[in-house]
Order: sequence, then C-alpha cells, then structure tokens
Amino acid sequence: MSRKVQLEQAYKAVVEEIKQVCESLNRPVPNLVAVSKYKPAEDIQTLYDLGHRHFGENYVQELSEKAKVLPKDIHWHFIGNLQSNKVKIVREVPSLSVVETLDSEQKATKLNAQRSQINTPLSVFLQINTSDEPQKAGIHVEDYATIESLCRHVESLEFLHLEGLMTIGSVEQSKQSEVGAENKDFTALGNLREKLNSSLNLNLGLSMGMSSDYIQAIKQGSTNIRVGSHIFGGRVTKEEIKSASN
Ligand SMILES: *Cc1c(COP(=O)(O)O)cnc(C)c1O
Repeated sequence: MSRKVQLEQAYKAVVEEIKQVCESLNRPVPNLVAVSKYKPAEDIQTLYDLGHRHFGENYVQELSEKAKVLPKDIHWHFIGNLQSNKVKIVREVPSLSVVETLDSEQKATKLNAQRSQINTPLSVFLQINTSDEPQKAGIHVEDYATIESLCRHVESLEFLHLEGLMTIGSVEQSKQSEVGAENKDFTALGNLREKLNSSLNLNLGLSMGMSSDYIQAIKQGSTNIRVGSHIFGGRVTKEEIKSASN
C-alpha cells in the first residue's frame, strides 16, 4: 500500500471513530489537530487534500520550514515548548493560528506585540500541569491565583483570544483510560475550567487527548484533541536518527 493510501485510511478511521463516539454520547465533535511533528510536508499535503486544515507542530524551525511550502490556509497549532526568544514565529507565520502552550504573562505580552505588527489575532490555550510530574511544562493546576491572573491578562490583550486550557495527561492516567476509567488529569482540567468560567464569566474550551487517550478525553468534555501517531504512524525522533547513525 502506498504511503498516501495508508495515511488516508488511518485518518478516515480516526475521523469516523470520533464521529461515532460523539454521536453515541450526544456530544459535539471536538476540533481534531493532526500532530505532524517529524512527518514530511507531503504527509500534511495528503490530509490537506482530503479537506483537513488543523495541524500541530512542536518545533519552531520545523513549523517555519513546513509553513513555507504548504498552503497558506492551514491552521497551524503550536503545541511545543515555546521559548521567549522564539515568539517572533507568530509574526513570521501568520497562519499559525493557535498557541496551545502559553504559560506566562511575559510571553502573552510578547505574542500580542508580534501579532499587532501583522494585525492578526492569535488564539491561545494556557498549558496546565495536571499530573504533578516535575518535568512537565505548564502552570501547576493548584496554582489558581496565577492561572486566573494570566486569564485576565490575556483577556486584556487586543490580539490574543483566550480559547481555553490545555494539558498533557500523564502516561499512568492514560493507561487507566484504556480500560474506560476516569482520567484524573482530564477531570482536574475540567474542574479548573468550570471555576474560571464562573469566576471570570468565560466560555473556555479544553485541549486534551492524544493518540492513547482521546476517546476518554472526548467522554470528559474535550473540545480540541491532538492526535499524532494514530494518524501518521510512529515517530522516529531526531535523537533516534542520530544514535542509529553512530
Ligand atoms: C506529540 C504530541 C501529541 C501527539 O501525540 P500522539 O501520542 O502521537 O498522538 C499531542 N500533544 C502534544 C503536546 C504533543 O507533543
């Protein structure tokens, strides 16, 4: 089977599965972000030709190279760790429409300044660490005052639109979700959303769910799922490529 056919089949299977789950739960279909990190631009073009528009990337350099050669009406989601000195990517790539990993007021201010230069709004999710794993990025879920104040700050910025909260569930919780149990990371994010919505009168969405746990995430109210390997197949990382050639 050609790569193209394989990819089309995997993509359609994921879309169909999501549709069925949502119908059976009577829930709206969440936005599907196809996470294309490490995958070639041709793969993205294949899904684009099927009508897909939302793609997720983790690395500034990789996103910038792909955006140059791919259609301008793609909606790129930046889902990696965004360093302060790399925020100008949001000016260089106007089709970068969502940053899902915002975690500080300082970065919010910088993102807003970059977008004001091209007069183009940018949607953001605040990245929340719901799993107590110290290596994980994001503001700790218990740090309510910081999160609320960042929400207020983003709301005050002309070119930023606060779309919601994002989390990467722990591997341990995602294993639980395979057997249908509640995912505590997703519950924590949902509870935080309720609290913010009522105290700030907002209508925040939830970006949660990856290949191993997106069905459970949908069950728990996700509005934006980020699916990589279930669509594109496994990834070989740069580190693995390096060590294989050594
Ligand atoms: C890589 C990545 C994904 C996709 O992971 P899969 O398990 O391949 O679906 C989703 N979200 C973030 C933040 C990622 O870095």
